[in-house]
Amino acid sequence: MRPLIPKAKSSPIAIVGGGLAGVDAAWQAARRGVKVRLYEMKPRKFSPAHQSPLLGELVCSNSLRAEALGNAVGLLKEEMRRLGSLVLAAAGATRVPAGKALAVDREGFAAYLTQALEQEPGVEIIREEVTELDASRTTVIATGPLSSDALAAALAQITGQEHLHFYDAIAPIVTADSLDLSRVFRASRYGAGDDYLNCPFTAEEYAAFYQALMAAEQVPLKSFEEPRYFEGCLPLEVMAARGYLTLVYGPLKPVGLVDPRSGRQPFAVAQLRQENREGTLYNLVGFQTKLKYGEQQRIFRLIPGLEHAEFARLGSIHRNTFIHAPGLLSPYLNFLAHPRLFLAGQISGVEGYVESAAMGLLAGINAARQAQDLPLVMPPRATALGALVGHLTNTASKDFQPTNVNFGLFPPLTERTPKKLRGEAYAARALEELENWQRQMLEKE
Ligand SMILES: Cc1cc2nc3c(=O)[nH]c(=O)nc-3n(C[C@H](O)[C@H](O)[C@H](O)COP(=O)(O)OP(=O)(O)OC[C@H]3O[C@@H](n4cnc5c(N)ncnc54)[C@H](O)[C@@H]3O)c2cc1C
Repeated sequence: MRPLIPKAKSSPIAIVGGGLAGVDAAWQAARRGVKVRLYEMKPRKFSPAHQSPLLGELVCSNSLRAEALGNAVGLLKEEMRRLGSLVLAAAGATRVPAGKALAVDREGFAAYLTQALEQEPGVEIIREEVTELDASRTTVIATGPLSSDALAAALAQITGQEHLHFYDAIAPIVTADSLDLSRVFRASRYGAGDDYLNCPFTAEEYAAFYQALMAAEQVPLKSFEEPRYFEGCLPLEVMAARGYLTLVYGPLKPVGLVDPRSGRQPFAVAQLRQENREGTLYNLVGFQTKLKYGEQQRIFRLIPGLEHAEFARLGSIHRNTFIHAPGLLSPYLNFLAHPRLFLAGQISGVEGYVESAAMGLLAGINAARQAQDLPLVMPPRATALGALVGHLTNTASKDFQPTNVNFGLFPPLTERTPKKLRGEAYAARALEELENWQRQMLEKE
């Protein structure tokens, strides 16, 4: 790709972390003619999951997930390709057969990324752990879910300890249009409004649910993941194992709720809380879990009203360093209180290889623009990139958790579209808006 010529003189920027986000950030900035110092602590120091000295290491699966444009992650990848993502170029060059998914040769992929950045004249790779942050220097922090302790401490000083999390306790999210509204009712406890959707259980339905939950398969813990749960966010199955009725006194408590169809308090109630402004997504309150994904779908569809639920996200609990982005990050991915510090990747509050690289790409563009005294940019909300930024800056969300990209994060389509065609309609709208945005961005440079 031809380097973009900078319009203004620029000072070097720092990128901390040479993972999925860091490599795309470095590439974008260097391609804009900005000098980059990319700090990576490997091979001097490894996180508990990293093993290779190469940049852009995939720590687990070798799949970058679905390719089809009718799938949100397929669309995200296409948007990134159009913006010149190095991660997507590496994936294209090293792909291996994987049906409808984009999977890569793990070693080849990381080697491609490492070589591309080593050969890029504007990038200097420094193999050092960064332990302090300088808020007066344009820096992209992309140290990932297993950021080193010193860096996490430096970040906590900036965000406030209470805004930095070390574990995900993610509850599943379902799409609103997959719920059986003839079974659920809208109400808040004790008649204090109607903010929640409530799924009422009879005693028999609860018994069947409980039995299935207790027999379900869990994801084994990684060696570095001690099961140190906070009492406030115990996995559902851990709570259930404490006794047959523990859930009925916990996340499934029915008190203060009356089913308008029976006029009575149900035996138990699962509550769904609205997840986004558009009301297209609901999360299952208190359902953080370590059950296997297939098991979650099977068991949670036993909840009355969720028989045909479509899951935009499944539950999980794992080690993950991330900030509570809403209220702290601007839509340009820099801190509102420290505009020279940008955040990218999993630590910014997205989930997944592709999403992490996507936030790296955006942070790299904006860090370069800041260094060149150009106005910062944000992608349109209707693009997959913009939908993720929308999630990170959604201050209306009461329970912020990292997320994969999914169409529930997008502004709803304005025209009625059959379910089967919705993904493609989201993609067509997104790609058109992306094209206009790219044109406007170039015109203003
Ligand atoms: C165990 C595990 C398994 C995962 N499996 C998957 C999966 O299968 N599929 C998926 O889509 N997502 C997965 N994820 C989630 C996530 O997508 C990946 O972790 C992804 O690599 C995140 O990209 P990143 O750039 O934010 O961080 P990383 O890719 O982890 O990159 C961060 C880099 O920063 C370096 N670093 C850390 N601290 C410092 C410091 N102080 N100074 C300098 N360098 C530093 C690290 O060495 C690392 O190279 C997994 C996460 C974990 C923890």
